[in-house]
Amino acid sequence: MRGAVAGAGTVIVGGGTAGCVLAARLSADPEHTVCLLEAGPVWGSAAELPADLRLAGRMPIGPESPWVWRYPVRLADGPVRGNIVRGRVIGGSGAINGGYFVRALATDFAAWGRECPEWAFEAVLPGYQQIERDLDYGEFPGHGSSGPIPVRRAVDPVPVSVEFATAALAAGFPEIPDLNALPEAIPETGVGPVPCNVDSGMRAGSATEYLLPALTRPNLTVHGSTMVTRIRFRGTRAVGVDYVRDGQSGTIAADRIVLCAGAVESAALLLRSGVGPPEQLRTLGIPVVGPAPVGAWCTDHPEIGIDYRGAATPVADTVALEYSLFLDDVEIRPYAVRFGPDPKVRRLGVALMRPHSAGELRLVSADPRVPPSIEYRYLAAEYDRERFRAAVGVATELLRAIPGAAVPDQQPDNSWLRANLGTSQHLSGTCRMGPAFDESAVVDQRFRVHGLTGLAVADLSVVPVPLSRGPQATVLMIAEQAGRLLERV
Ligand SMILES: Cc1cc2nc3c(=O)[nH]c(=O)nc-3n(C[C@H](O)[C@H](O)[C@H](O)COP(=O)(O)OP(=O)(O)OC[C@H]3O[C@@H](n4cnc5c(N)ncnc54)[C@H](O)[C@@H]3O)c2cc1C
Repeated sequence: MRGAVAGAGTVIVGGGTAGCVLAARLSADPEHTVCLLEAGPVWGSAAELPADLRLAGRMPIGPESPWVWRYPVRLADGPVRGNIVRGRVIGGSGAINGGYFVRALATDFAAWGRECPEWAFEAVLPGYQQIERDLDYGEFPGHGSSGPIPVRRAVDPVPVSVEFATAALAAGFPEIPDLNALPEAIPETGVGPVPCNVDSGMRAGSATEYLLPALTRPNLTVHGSTMVTRIRFRGTRAVGVDYVRDGQSGTIAADRIVLCAGAVESAALLLRSGVGPPEQLRTLGIPVVGPAPVGAWCTDHPEIGIDYRGAATPVADTVALEYSLFLDDVEIRPYAVRFGPDPKVRRLGVALMRPHSAGELRLVSADPRVPPSIEYRYLAAEYDRERFRAAVGVATELLRAIPGAAVPDQQPDNSWLRANLGTSQHLSGTCRMGPAFDESAVVDQRFRVHGLTGLAVADLSVVPVPLSRGPQATVLMIAEQAGRLLERV
């Protein structure tokens, strides 16, 4: 290959939440050469990370942040537009996120594992256990006490969280002390403290806890500020990647390439490289290497924000969310942080965790600098609109029960829902997992792209069902599974 850097065993594209775990797990075998390519900056140790990335009370995603990718999106039909961000830094979105670290439910894996037995709940539980060092429940059944990621619930929650939890308990919702407990201890509805991957106020993500401690290994190379632009193929075998670093382009040969670039960029990279719906690729002048339903389905957690005035001042220096109330497929989030300039205005998030509406990601240009189009199609299904209307009703009643809270009168009709619509920033499923006969599947249950060799995807893109909880803990579990299931090269 012309201009190629010496070939590595496995090249991992993207040093984000999943990529850092996978690089650490694969390189634990000294016989296995691993090269990790990350578009954003990389530091040599956790101590060198800027405070905005370390302090869990900060989410550095504002307009001035140098650590994010930004994408315009269409949330719903008509002009309901929005923007999403993703981490562009070692640790990826996990390095800039809210620190909520809750496992998906056994029912999610019942659906996922139907055609993919490696993904039944019993099969993934050891992966969840392996990740964590649960500082509250580590010795309890189903938990881990010696994994790299410390997990802890708020010790001294702020008044906003306490008032909401008190109102929910008074309204008769049961308490769920441990949201990561085994299935039999998690009722469909209930309120509980949010497990967070935070220790002593510091974010503990996959970069700081998995990758950076492994940097001394001679078989692991990490390149920051290196954006992969295309996968190279020989026939249907992936043989390397093209990249740009400091304005210079180059190529790295590989025995196997694993995409961990996240649900937006893993899909975009496949499409740009000729793996995707043939018609879409031909329209953009991209030669088809392998037909695949990349981007044809995706899901996220649509969220309605209810702003209200309260007596207590929300505290800025805490994790965003300390308590959550679950009503089966709805999560109600009393945010502990401020969203606007007025210190008395608080926000309650109402999120649909298993929406029936699904979205689509499409490439609009073969140029890697042009972001793909993301159509969420939120609220398209009547079921979703009805669920939101009911959940906003429950949320408003609870707020009214909080002493001193002033809640605006609202009619959650369709136009109100659209006006207050946002997203939880949990996009997943653009490269769905499933068996070869499943026409919606891009990868098999061991992450390998159907119909091609030497190419796998292991990040949030592969999840084939909506997850009933925020995805971060599950992404780490996915990467742990990948460390176990990917064959050695
Ligand atoms: C603002 C925000 C807050 C969130 N809060 C929470 C939360 O509190 N709890 C929760 O459960 N979930 C949360 N999420 C979601 C969760 O953090 C992500 O879904 C999860 O981290 C995704 O992991 P990933 O490995 O799939 O992708 P990422 O972690 O996004 O990693 C992808 C990596 O690939 C790199 N990359 C992409 N393209 C290329 C390329 N072409 N070449 C080289 N490198 C590339 C990126 O720079 C990035 O580092 C949040 C997300 C956001 C954006």
